[in-house]
Amino acid sequence: MNHAQLTALGRALRLLGEHGEALTADTPDTRLHEVKADLRRALDLLEDSVTTAAPSTRCPEHPNGPVDTSAPDLCLLCETRRRAARRSEYNGGPAQPRPAERAPSRYGTRGDRPQPQQRWLPEAWNGREWELCGTPRRDRREAELYITAQLRGARPAMAYRLVHEFTDYEVLRVWGTPLRRDIEPMS
Ligand SMILES: [Zn+2]
Repeated sequence: MNHAQLTALGRALRLLGEHGEALTADTPDTRLHEVKADLRRALDLLEDSVTTAAPSTRCPEHPNGPVDTSAPDLCLLCETRRRAARRSEYNGGPAQPRPAERAPSRYGTRGDRPQPQQRWLPEAWNGREWELCGTPRRDRREAELYITAQLRGARPAMAYRLVHEFTDYEVLRVWGTPLRRDIEPMS
């Protein structure tokens, strides 16, 4: 949008605002036709100012990319990438039954580490900073109910907030082919 367009569009939009302010039950039809014409003019100006297509997704990286309605950001490209990461994480990790010639890693397997998880943290304002005021919950609704109960309590804090904590693992790169190998039966 160049400066001339900005000026014209701003004027047209402010005019529409004035129409809105002046609108009453007695506004005559002739006036409404004027409003209609001004609205059209503003729309045309907008049409000229906007050069890109309306975004189809909420993804900052691919705003006009293909849509996946089941994805939280509607982005098919990112959702495909996320799915692939999850798939390789769950299926392709190091072969579970460890080959006999390899000693078990002393660092453990992925399964030994905490699962990716999300938690909701109730926090209260103590006058200087936010502090955790209850157990982090696995369930958002539960955390909200907890905060509601705090608000209704005898001495509620000045403010509460709900913090979403999310930890996840993403496979960045795989070296080699992790084939599944069965443990030899003991004999
Ligand atoms: Zn994307």
